[in-house]
Amino acid sequence: MTSVSTTTPGTDWEYAPSPESREIVTIQREYNLFIGGEFVPPASGEHFTTLNPATEEPLASVAQAGPADVDRAVASARKASEASWGRLPGRERAKYLYRIARAIQERAREFAVLESLDNGKPIKESRDVDVPLAAAHFFYHAGWADKLGYAGFGPDPRPLGVAGQVIPWNFPLLMAAWKLAPALATGNTCVLKPAETTPLTALLLARVIAEAGLPPGAVNIITGDGSTGAGLVGHPGVDKVAFTGSTEVGKEIQAAVAGTGKRLTLELGGKAANVVFDDAPIDQAVEGIVNGIFFNQGHVCCAGSRLLLQESVADAVLDRLKRRLATLRLGDPLDKNTDIGAINSRPQLDKIEGLVAAGEAEGAQRWSPPCQLPARGYWFPPTVFSGVSQSHKIAREEIFGPVLSVLTFRTPEEAVAKANNTPYGLSAGIWTEKGSRILWMAGRLRAGVVWANTYNRFDPASPFGGYQESGFGREGGRAGLAGYLGA
Ligand code: NDP
Repeated sequence: MTSVSTTTPGTDWEYAPSPESREIVTIQREYNLFIGGEFVPPASGEHFTTLNPATEEPLASVAQAGPADVDRAVASARKASEASWGRLPGRERAKYLYRIARAIQERAREFAVLESLDNGKPIKESRDVDVPLAAAHFFYHAGWADKLGYAGFGPDPRPLGVAGQVIPWNFPLLMAAWKLAPALATGNTCVLKPAETTPLTALLLARVIAEAGLPPGAVNIITGDGSTGAGLVGHPGVDKVAFTGSTEVGKEIQAAVAGTGKRLTLELGGKAANVVFDDAPIDQAVEGIVNGIFFNQGHVCCAGSRLLLQESVADAVLDRLKRRLATLRLGDPLDKNTDIGAINSRPQLDKIEGLVAAGEAEGAQRWSPPCQLPARGYWFPPTVFSGVSQSHKIAREEIFGPVLSVLTFRTPEEAVAKANNTPYGLSAGIWTEKGSRILWMAGRLRAGVVWANTYNRFDPASPFGGYQESGFGREGGRAGLAGYLGA
């Protein structure tokens, strides 16, 4: 498969294909569960298939963990909590975390290619964002492991015990790192369930963890569908539940955990406003808008999916944005020139198509650059809706795809009111040259993260998390450690 430019043929430079080789990756025909430091077949005897969403080619058969497997994984984590990992001093835990971080760096290309194959994201993103940030999370938390007594949680903060962690498909390796690194650094043991459509990099990480010599059971990785996730979060042997995914499932988990005494953090959906004022550097803002919503095909909880343009510059910004979108290249995720890869699954594509149809039916104007979609696989072109009003479904619901809804405002007060008019509260962006305005806005926006003159910047030292229906608890930074420590 080759990448196709979204520009009209003949009017742009033609790029030669630049595919990353997939030779570096060996995909097994069948994968088992990682429990107690080894790969074991599922008691259920069942497996499911994970696909390459760019081609619909089956990649591997992966174990479906049932209730007996969840029991076994939780028991193994409990044993490690009481007998090995949970008893190690922080300086010893740190060594293992450093080792994992270094191994991710050493195997970076392998992780990146595998991530792009299983998820559909462009190799330049898995190579330059997902994998380096995953390594950075382990490095960062390795640094904390022996300093927890000085972090403001009391002189001898204790781990909670066994963490049950459920992650989504949009950043499979990175979300595994976000969950495992702080839990391990603080002395907890883990049972992690990756998403059904993207289990492969978590299973490669399991191999890295085994090779790093962690005590058996410190990390257990069990693959499966939503029922495996529900079994894990509802298991009585779990002390802490950490979930990233949809608000709908987050609410179910909150209900399941209520009254059990388990600690819970939820990182859920978002519908972030990216606000551009008339004094913003427009070319930079356009890059930030593109990065905000078309990075990772828009499968980003903190995506800048609502663009708020100050009325006096709205036409100029939209015009430049459209010209910029016409230069994006959509196609083969393994091509190093590709900007927009595949949608992760058929159900996700159906969801995007449904919401886009709703946007048209409600009267917003839909625009996409000329764009030829590959014949096989799951694809959606970069799409911009203008003429959007706050009551439109596409202004309220998380689309989780490469679809931008554009609204306008006149005054800063109106921008704040519109930005906050959402049940979510995960992130926001501000584009202006005035520092005072940035501070004024940031103090009023109800969002866990506010970026100014940039977007989608991540750093393990910087806490990330939401308000309202975007969840609670923080990941990253000192605040992220709190979710894994008891009194
Ligand atoms: P889900 O919230 O369903 O999935 C996230 C994880 O939870 C997956 O590992 C999933 O397993 C698991 N899971 C599903 N049901 C349960 C349950 N009852 N109890 C415990 N774990 C469960 O997200 P989807 O992948 O289904 O995506 C649906 C929508 O959610 C997307 O269209 C998007 O809008 C939003 N979303 C938001 C994310 C975010 O970070 N904000 C991330 C992912 C999705 P399985 O993979 O088998 O379903």
